[in-house]
Parts: sequence; structure tokens; C-alpha cells
Amino acid sequence: MADAKRIDGKAFAADLRERVGRGVAELKVATGMTPGLATVLVGADPASQVYVRSKGKMAAELGMASFDHRLPAETAEEELLALVATLNADPAVNGILVQLPLPKQIDTSRVLLAVDPDKDVDGFHPINVGRLGSIAPGAPLDFPVPCTPLGCSMLLADALGSLAGRHAVVVGRSNLVGRPVAQLLLRANCTVTIAHSHTRDLPALCRLADILVVAIGRPEFVHGDWIRPGATVIDVGINRVPTVDGKSRLVGDVVFAEALPVAAHLTPVPGGVGPMTVACLMYNTLQATRRKAGLPFVAV
Ligand code: NDP
Repeated sequence: MADAKRIDGKAFAADLRERVGRGVAELKVATGMTPGLATVLVGADPASQVYVRSKGKMAAELGMASFDHRLPAETAEEELLALVATLNADPAVNGILVQLPLPKQIDTSRVLLAVDPDKDVDGFHPINVGRLGSIAPGAPLDFPVPCTPLGCSMLLADALGSLAGRHAVVVGRSNLVGRPVAQLLLRANCTVTIAHSHTRDLPALCRLADILVVAIGRPEFVHGDWIRPGATVIDVGINRVPTVDGKSRLVGDVVFAEALPVAAHLTPVPGGVGPMTVACLMYNTLQATRRKAGLPFVAV
């Protein structure tokens, strides 16, 4: 079989960002509104600092206002909740992103619950989780949807067109990735199987998949002979592994070189799902602002 077609998430994300940038400019002309994204980082975790910086930078590049809030690691829960309340009430802020994980003294679910669901651009508020969980097949995604799963579904729709009737196997059931991916695929009329660490004979189950989404956080766990010839594989995993020269490299949850000759479409790591996450955050922020302006939903 010919080599798989690599799904170029980097290029798709660049295109999505461009479309969002145009949407921002059009919105300004039509309403005078500038989408505003507030990021909140508690503590000084280096990886989180990099993520938050790149989110703020991208927002600014797309013509959005960005508000960067940094709090010390020892911040009390009530203090963080007070900041969230201020951002909820601020008309210049349309999207609020509280960078996870939060320090131990803070109850994450309490903070996520405190974010105004209309400004919840991560899609983690229980109201938005419930909206996705109960969405009708094909209904518009006119509410915030978690960014990485949204990115996966955009890449799949771009690669395959209609997903209806395909058997999708989602490996991983986290609230961040696996579950929302499965719900988005159900909405797209796939037949969905969700696998997790208790699943029996995972290789045999994966071989049944027309669409295989892997989000487990285990480096190169899924091998080429787990993949049905002609399947589409979305590798969400981002794992840093050591190399022989003492450095490190990023790999996915799938053995890319083995999957490449078998699959019809495959996301690389890096350069697949990863770049979609921040682009979808920008998309969610634009959509939240459009909703605030009372404009009808359009998938930019
Ligand atoms: P979690 O650790 O929260 O969840 C992992 C899931 O994988 C769990 O449901 C777990 O099952 C399942 N799992 C673990 N081991 C196995 C196994 N041996 N067989 C079957 N299932 C297994 O991880 P996340 O969902 O947050 O992230 C998954 C991966 O995606 C990570 O590599 C992460 O870095 C990456 N990621 C990438 C993003 C991007 O932007 N591209 C964004 C977010 C995450 P159980 O429920 O039974 O424990």
C-alpha cells in the first residue's frame, strides 16, 4: 500500500488562524468590538509559562486584545475566584483561560465552575460539557468546545469529508481529550467505541477502526499492525523521550514509521494535532465575541 497521506496540522492551523484573523477584522468593522482573551497563570511552571505566552502572542497577532494575569504559586483559592469574577464582569474580556494544572491548595473544579460559561473558551465549564454531551447529530457547535478535540474533528472533516457511518475507536477517555473527541465524532454520525486502560485486547479493537484517535500519553504505544489498512489515524499524544545522544525528542502515542505505510491518513507528532489546540482557542474566542455581539453562528 502507498504511504499514508500525512495530515498537515501545522498548515491547517495556520489557515485557521488566518480565517480567525479575518473574522476579527470583520467583527471590528461590523460592531466595533475587539475580541479579548484573558489568560490566568498561577505559579511559575515553565511549560505553562510557555503555553500562556504563546496564547497571548497569538491573540495579539490576530488583532485581539490579550490580558495576561500572573499570580504567585501560593495564591489562595478565594483570591483566584475573585480574579475570575472580575474577568467575568469585564466587558473587554470575551474569553477566559485559566491555565491548568492549578496548585494543590486550589480546587480546580470550583474555579472552572466559576468561569462565565459564555467566556469559557476552553469548554471545560460543566454547562458546556453538558451541551457537548447532549448535542444532536449534526447540530451546530455554537458554544465553546474543548480546543484539542475541536482541532481533531476539524482535521478529520478536512481529510475525509463526511464521517457518517464510519467506525471510530477513541483510545483514552479523559475529560480533556478522549471523551469530548468521542462526543464530537458521535455528533458527526460515527459509530464510536471508547477504549481505556481496562479495555481487553486493544490491538484487535483498534484494527476495527476506520478512524483511530489515540490520546493516552504513552510514547509509541500503538503499532502498525494495530491499524486497519486504509484507516485514518489521529495521534494526540505528545511525549518527550530521551535520545541516545543525551538529548530528547517528541513522539506521539503511535509508532509513526509503522503506521505510515498502513494508514490512509495520519497526523505526525509534532506538527499534527498540537498546532490546532491554540488555533482553536483563538477560534473559540472569536466565536464567543460574535455570540456576545448577537451575531448568528458561522464556522469561520
Ligand atoms: P490522561 O492521562 O488524562 O488520560 C489518558 C487516558 O488514556 C485515560 O483515559 C487512560 O485510561 C488511557 N490509557 C492510559 N494507558 C492506557 C493503555 N495502556 N491502554 C488504553 N488506554 C490507556 O491524558 P490526556 O487525555 O490529558 O492526554 C493524552 C495525551 O494527549 C498526552 O500525551 C497529552 O500530552 C496529549 N495532549 C496533547 C494535546 C495537544 O495539544 N496535542 C492537548 C492535550 C493532551 P483510564 O481512564 O482507564 O485511566
